[in-house]
Amino acid sequence: MNKNSSNIMALAPNTSNKRETVCIFGTGDFGRALGHKLIQSGYRVVYGSRSTQISNLIPKDAEVLGHAEAAQKAAVIIIAIQRQHYNFLTPLAEVLRGKVLVDISNNLKLNQYPESNAEYLAQLLPGSKVVKAFNTVSAWALQSGTLDASRQVFVCGDDVEAKQMVMNIVRAVGLTPLDKGSLLAAQEIENYPLQLFPMWKFPMFLSLGLTAFFLFYCVALDIIYTYIYENNNFSFFIAITIPNRVCPVLALILLALVYLPGIFAAIIQLYRGTKYRRFPDWLDKWMLCRKQLGLIALAFASLHMVFTLVTPLRAFASWRTGKGIISQALNNKTEPLNHTNAWLSDSYLALGILGYFLFVLLGITSLPSVSNNVNWREFRFVQSKLGYLALIFCTAHTLVYGGKWFLSPSAYKWYLPDIYMLSLIVPCAVLVVKFVLIFPCIDKPLTQIRQGWERNPKYSE
Ligand code: NAP
Repeated sequence: MNKNSSNIMALAPNTSNKRETVCIFGTGDFGRALGHKLIQSGYRVVYGSRSTQISNLIPKDAEVLGHAEAAQKAAVIIIAIQRQHYNFLTPLAEVLRGKVLVDISNNLKLNQYPESNAEYLAQLLPGSKVVKAFNTVSAWALQSGTLDASRQVFVCGDDVEAKQMVMNIVRAVGLTPLDKGSLLAAQEIENYPLQLFPMWKFPMFLSLGLTAFFLFYCVALDIIYTYIYENNNFSFFIAITIPNRVCPVLALILLALVYLPGIFAAIIQLYRGTKYRRFPDWLDKWMLCRKQLGLIALAFASLHMVFTLVTPLRAFASWRTGKGIISQALNNKTEPLNHTNAWLSDSYLALGILGYFLFVLLGITSLPSVSNNVNWREFRFVQSKLGYLALIFCTAHTLVYGGKWFLSPSAYKWYLPDIYMLSLIVPCAVLVVKFVLIFPCIDKPLTQIRQGWERNPKYSE
């Protein structure tokens, strides 16, 4: 009997399509878009507005009243009005006492005011329960239904019950609430929509800086030097040859930079003998943007792939091939196949293909839709073990291609090494130190530290 009645209770809310009334202050873009969505989800909507005239833009089934009258009809009031107008709410303090006020506002600048808009609202109306929500959703996305990428709605507030009521509304309109805690989190939530790719800043600036440096380096050595000392005008190298030299170099260095912070972290943990002390800020930040560094590296590797594939189509390539054939015909002598070169070029291509394949695999597994479907161990296997294998293949690919230049004096124009040599410094350093770290005498204490063991425990008995 009890069981049956609880089932009936559980089903009860769904038997009626009509939910409670929600009041929205403000008939602007956001107020209207959210009103439409709420009505579709079965809520009754009443607007509080300065003008009670019904316009065509306002949802058909909604009521429009004065602020005080509208507020009396609902327990939850969504304030779809900019912060600078909040003063008009002060005379309504008595009507709004005990009501749940949802602050959805955003600012134009990061940390524009000393306190968050939601905290300011709570100060103006201490008798009301303020909850921050919906500010990361745009009116356009609500209206057009393109919410797939931004289904998550951050919610915070000091009153647990009020927060639950707002989270129920968020769920009812098809979004996913994420509880961010008390109203103290409001500042962070308000800053969120104003951030411009925060995790991409460092990787982007670093890649731009390295690109500019290597482009300039190649232009100097491949175009300017050749023009001055060999009187050859190779300025057209700027279109394909130089980008195809710079892209693989950047891909390799950035891939190595994905694994370098892990090496630093291991050395720091070994030195300190504990994992319970924070890493320096710069290392924390570097660790957090490894995915972005890896994706930029993958983009450069893909460009290198495309540039390489178009090489046979270039006029320069057919001129060089033709020149070789003509010189053999003139000398009436066929060059024998150089087996060493054949081995080198085949190995170089095979290593590049394998490295690129693993690179793509790393990129795919970093996508949230894929990484959410593998467990932590599988994710680590791909990102760490296969990642290092990709780094080994790509480093070997560069070594096989550029290694022959190391001892050749012609490779040192103006006493500067070729960029292939420069590109190998970071990856080789990472691989050598990693090789040392996997020695059992070092790996064992490091694993113990990562499992919580401490050399000098602070709280020992
Ligand atoms: P809006 O189109 O300019 O609408 C604001 C509404 O506030 C007006 O339509 C007006 O409604 C009311 N209002 C204006 N001046 C007022 C005053 N002096 N006193 C009382 N009420 C006044 O702005 P919105 O784009 O809807 O944005 C509203 C809030 O939502 C803002 O805080 C914004 O940061 C936030 N938000 C907007 C979006 C978005 O995509 N638009 C996304 C997230 C958050 P009545 O004429 O009916 O009184």
